[in-house]
Amino acid sequence: MADIHANLVALEAVLSHIKRQGGVDELWCLGDVVGYGPQPHQCIELLKNYNHVAVAGNHDWAVVGKLPFNEMDPDAAISDQWTTEQLSIRDAAYLKDLPQVVERGDFTLVHGSPRRPIREYLTTLSSAVENFNYFESRYCLVGHSHLTLVFRHDGASANSFSHLSPDIKLALGDIRLIINPGSVGQPRDGDPRASYGIYDDEVGIIRLYRVEYDIEVTQALMVQMNLPLRLVARLSRGV
Ligand code: ZN
Repeated sequence: MADIHANLVALEAVLSHIKRQGGVDELWCLGDVVGYGPQPHQCIELLKNYNHVAVAGNHDWAVVGKLPFNEMDPDAAISDQWTTEQLSIRDAAYLKDLPQVVERGDFTLVHGSPRRPIREYLTTLSSAVENFNYFESRYCLVGHSHLTLVFRHDGASANSFSHLSPDIKLALGDIRLIINPGSVGQPRDGDPRASYGIYDDEVGIIRLYRVEYDIEVTQALMVQMNLPLRLVARLSRGV
């Protein structure tokens, strides 16, 4: 899962969906637990209840002073400043200590890209092709763009990428892949439902899911916290 963005209602919906699929051995979190959304502390606390690994996202580090706010758009900076004030000392320590890269079996986990784990957006084939040189494992999982995407590296001439539709089963084989499972807490591909995937290591398949959650509950909390209205509105449209 990637880009939870302090949307506890969406995270809870995904976690109960995972339970209904029979559960998982470990949660892999691809960064940006916080930022934008109204419940940063609660999302960190809930994640800690699970056996999980997580990498740092740009918002995770911005809210603890490891990245400047001035490169962000104004609404993101406002929400990150607010987030900073909501964190307990333990929350801040958790975010500060997140690694940039985690290796798990055949997978490398980063937030943005293998080349620049915190900040690079992987949305074009050309940038993805370059990035295949920056990790050793067969597959890489990324977040950051909030789009469900797969990039295939099949030699110089046969690279490709495509958007992944909900409920797809992605069979893993010899071809190297960079996969983005979409965003839990702030999808941007026009589908407002929470997005995530489950990797089944017995059959070598990643299944992507979209999960409905009560968007209005998150939105009402954001309004209550005086978070920017543009950020509130975008959740309904998934943009
Ligand atoms: Zn994000």
